[in-house]
Amino acid sequence: MKNAFTRPAPSDVRLIPLPALNDNYIWALARQGHALVVDPGQAAPVLDWLERESLQLDAILLTHHHGDHVGGVRELLAQHSARVWGPAHETLPACDVRVSQDDTVVLPTLELTLQVMDIPGHTAGHVAYFGKNEVKQPFVFCGDTLFAAGCGRLFEGTPAQMLASLDKLASLPPDTLVCCAHEYTLSNLRWALQVEPDSPALRQRWEQDSLRRKQHVPTVPSTLETELATNPFLRTDQATVLQAAHQHAGHPLNSRVDVFASLRNWKNNV
Ligand SMILES: [Zn+2]
Repeated sequence: MKNAFTRPAPSDVRLIPLPALNDNYIWALARQGHALVVDPGQAAPVLDWLERESLQLDAILLTHHHGDHVGGVRELLAQHSARVWGPAHETLPACDVRVSQDDTVVLPTLELTLQVMDIPGHTAGHVAYFGKNEVKQPFVFCGDTLFAAGCGRLFEGTPAQMLASLDKLASLPPDTLVCCAHEYTLSNLRWALQVEPDSPALRQRWEQDSLRRKQHVPTVPSTLETELATNPFLRTDQATVLQAAHQHAGHPLNSRVDVFASLRNWKNNV
């Protein structure tokens, strides 16, 4: 798969999803010879890109401890003197700066400042990095918490925690680019269409993203606005979603957490 998607931005900042492993994306950002990568589960795609573009790797950001997000860190550090930022309370192969809610990551060579958000649920210490400096459109590196039309599985957290984390992400500006770490979009959309079969926005998204995949183009980043309109996990307060979740669960759902838990359980078993 080629790295076909490069989003233009002011100056020469570029936000690129580097395909890795089976269906991971390592998000990469470059500016004037300097680079940042997020969740390098594998070193080779990053090293190839750095060499191809003659870039120096300055920073590695980690969202959580899973192997497909940190597996390439040591190999990258063997060849580049990058600084590593990672969640405060997770076991990581290397980490120079531990971060948690409201910390900032200042990257002068990239002219970028990122804000850290705690978003537990997929793992207990999962963090996101939100950026809005130097690029007109804000973006968030949200790892395995919010996906295009889906969300991460609850390996170490409760439905209440995950819902609170998704609510936090949902409160970012609607034009925020959602930079998630997997190409799961079509399978998520297939399920979302079971939840809201009559949604024109979902059908339109299905058409658009199916075409992208046929052309081997990433479906990400999406925008938060798109997620709010089509992602069932961000729509637990919508009557259509509540009704579908209720019907699937076969018992009354008394809160948004109940609705979320029912949706997550449903998605786990499709
Ligand atoms: Zn994960």
